[in-house]
Amino acid sequence: MSLTAVVTGAASPRGIGRATAMVLAEQGWNIGILDIDVEGSRALADEITEKHNVTTHAVAADVSDETQVRTAIDELEAALPPLAALANIAGVSSPVPYLELTSDEWHRVININLNGVHYVTRRVAESMVRHNYGRIVSVSSTSAQRGGGTYSKTPYSVAKAGVIGLTRALARELGPHNITVNAIAPGPIDTDIMGGPLTPDRREAMINDLLVNRVGTPNDVATAIAFLTSEASGYISGHTLNVDGGLYMH
Ligand code: NAD
Repeated sequence: MSLTAVVTGAASPRGIGRATAMVLAEQGWNIGILDIDVEGSRALADEITEKHNVTTHAVAADVSDETQVRTAIDELEAALPPLAALANIAGVSSPVPYLELTSDEWHRVININLNGVHYVTRRVAESMVRHNYGRIVSVSSTSAQRGGGTYSKTPYSVAKAGVIGLTRALARELGPHNITVNAIAPGPIDTDIMGGPLTPDRREAMINDLLVNRVGTPNDVATAIAFLTSEASGYISGHTLNVDGGLYMH
């Protein structure tokens, strides 16, 4: 049966979401794209349709606005085959030091990086429960485990830790509906979220903290997400998979 994977945060041209949408389309998933960037989402949808023999549909929504999210998922549900996988990837960084943090910045980051995951998951889960099948994967971060970094300070770390808590709670609640729920904790990945392409100095400083001698690529994360949305991962739920070059070892 033809099925759909919903990917949030896929519009960014060098991002993890785009790489994930591409890998999932290669594997035959129809792709529903949800991003605040309308033009980027539509361009990606067209590119995927050209390259792969799958159906795509792009919707514009701010994940931190529950009404927009519900309308957007309604549209994806109407336009595409059953929503069987969800990759929660949309997110923003926050480099502001704690003692300079405003309440607005705190709420902005929590609203996008944590509440956004909840709003999208809540609506997509309703659809998955109706079909008694689903694979949900949400992108957390090693910042949740290590207490942040240069571009991922307090509210970012708190939101990403919340994503891990949400993942565990939902794995428990949605398990009876044949839905698995997992998280990915990427380490440093070369995307634009850290303020644009990495300088050689910054890249070298990052590599010094790793066990693998390179900074990660969006594809490193995309292939891990694709595994957790596949049939092969059916006995894994409530887990957080680090894709971090060995940055954080438990
Ligand atoms: P990116 O900036 O390239 O992509 C982020 C995407 O999210 C963009 O397409 C953007 O338009 C979308 N987005 C932002 N705010 C949104 C909103 N309010 N509503 C809907 N869409 C919104 O960054 P990336 O590195 O690809 O990040 C993807 C995810 O991976 C994020 O959740 C990020 O926190 C996480 N992450 C990244 C790294 C890294 O080193 N790059 C490490 C750990 C976790």
